[in-house]
Order: sequence, then structure tokens, then C-alpha cells
Amino acid sequence: MQVTAAFAPRNGNPGIVPPHLTTPLPEPVVAAPAAPSAPPVSTFSGRVVLVPARLVREMRERPAARGGSEQAAAEQAVRGAQEFFRGLGVSDRHGNDNEIDVMIEPRFSNAGFIAGDDARKMGVGNGRDLMIVGNSPATGESFAFDKDVVRHEYSHRIVDSMLDLGHEGEQGAMHESLADTFAAAMDDDWTIGEASTPGGMRDMLNPERFGDPGHVREFVRTSKDKGGVHSNNGIPNKAAALIGEQLGRPAMAQIYIDAMANHMTSRSGIVDTAKATLLAAADRFGKSSQELGAVQQAWDAVGVLDILKRKR
Ligand SMILES: [Zn+2]
Repeated sequence: MQVTAAFAPRNGNPGIVPPHLTTPLPEPVVAAPAAPSAPPVSTFSGRVVLVPARLVREMRERPAARGGSEQAAAEQAVRGAQEFFRGLGVSDRHGNDNEIDVMIEPRFSNAGFIAGDDARKMGVGNGRDLMIVGNSPATGESFAFDKDVVRHEYSHRIVDSMLDLGHEGEQGAMHESLADTFAAAMDDDWTIGEASTPGGMRDMLNPERFGDPGHVREFVRTSKDKGGVHSNNGIPNKAAALIGEQLGRPAMAQIYIDAMANHMTSRSGIVDTAKATLLAAADRFGKSSQELGAVQQAWDAVGVLDILKRKR
């Protein structure tokens, strides 16, 4: 998808391997396979910078109309997501209980979340946090009817408010992965986006199905897609799915919320996130718990545990 950045991201460019990673991720042994069959929508993201400038201009001049059944479907999915996060102890301190505007925007071939401050700067919406729900470029269907997509975008809101992770490189991949992780925690499968795109857009348990890496040795180095944020999220996605398979989705989601609240920072990359989830599982379930064992196994399966051990 050809898009123009509306404005530069807030957090500068942390690069693909940020400086705080004292042990860089290993050079990929096998390059991640190109995915000629993957539709362009697999890069659906929703970062503010992916809203084309042209569309921002059009939205200022001619705000999207309220979209009837699309509006109702998206708002229902948003309300469900709010309830889900409330159940995990995330509330108004992180914006969860504050109002959010949902804009149905058929001129947008994507979906996105824009924090209130950014929306104000762009001159769109009412200055509240804004979710823009467009159409699937694969099918032309509104993303409003795809709960995975709405939940993914809503989860960006929570991640933004708790961590302010960057949108590029490894932090960007973590932002995307956490959005997928919570969307899947509200679901009963590990595929993202199958309601709007035949077959789906991403598979958390089997990222390779869409050409995304499922192991750190396949880490994609690219300047496209903000450093491959919608590819490299495959690595932590697979770890999260394995944790969910072992412990159930509620425990998995709680571990990630605890990790974000207590052990992650705005600079956390993939390895830091692994460490944070291990600490969170130990806090909540105990140092010799089977829960901690399951988290260890999951990060081992994607090659991250070895990196953590070497860092010790
Ligand atoms: Zn996203």
C-alpha cells in the first residue's frame, strides 16, 4: 500500500536493534521468505503515520458520516474490549474508561488508532482518542465487522497509554505484537483478521504461514514497514500464543498486562519483553510455578531464552 506519512512519529527512530540491546539479535541465518501470496493488507496497522496525508485533508474538509450498522458493530467491539481490559485491572488511569471516538471511514483501506493529542494536531475528529475503521483492501468489506481488527486497534490504545512504545523497529514490532496478543486473548483462535480477509492476515501460532518470522534467527531487517513491524511481531506473537495454549488466554493476558505495568519501559524490545513476562509470571504465580515454566518454554521455542541467558 502506498501511503504518505502524515507527520513524523513522536518517538524518533529507535532503529531496528535499539542501543539498549547490549546483545544484538543474531544475524538471520535464513532470510524470512518473501510472501508473494500475502495480500498488502497484511501490513494493516493503524499507526498514525500510516494515515495518508490526502485522507487527513479529506477528513478535515468532509468528516466521515456515521456509518449505521458499521458504526454499531465497531462500537460494540470497542465496548467489549473495554470490558475485557477492565477485567484485567486496566481502567481510566490508562484511558480505558475515557471516551473514544470511532470513525467509519470508507476512504481508508486500513484501520488505525490515533491518540487524542495526535488527532488534535492533525485537525481530525474531536480531539479525543480516535479509532478510524476503514475497509479491507482485499475484499472491500468494512473492518467494523472484523472484531480482531477493532480489538487490535483498541489494544494499541492501551499499549500507548501504558508504555508509549515507539512505532518503529523492535519497539514497533512489540507494539504490533501486544495489539495482536490482546486481540487474540479476546478470541478463541490465533488467526488475526480472518473475518475481513479470507484466510486471515496473520497467524500467531504459525507466523510462517504468512511469511512472518517465528524465530529470532529469521528476524527481518528491512527499512520498509517501519522496520518490518508487521513481520517481526511474528516472533513475540508465537511466544504469546504458546503461553496461551499452555495456560489459557486469561492467564496469558494477565501476565502481559503485569509485564507492561511493572517490568517494561517505552524502550522495551523483544528480549526485554520476554524478561518482563518471566518476571511477571514469577510475581504472580511463584518462582517454581508451572506458569513460569510455560512462559520460559514459549520464549525458548522462538529462540529468545538463549539470548536472555547469554545476557546474564
Ligand atoms: Zn497495529
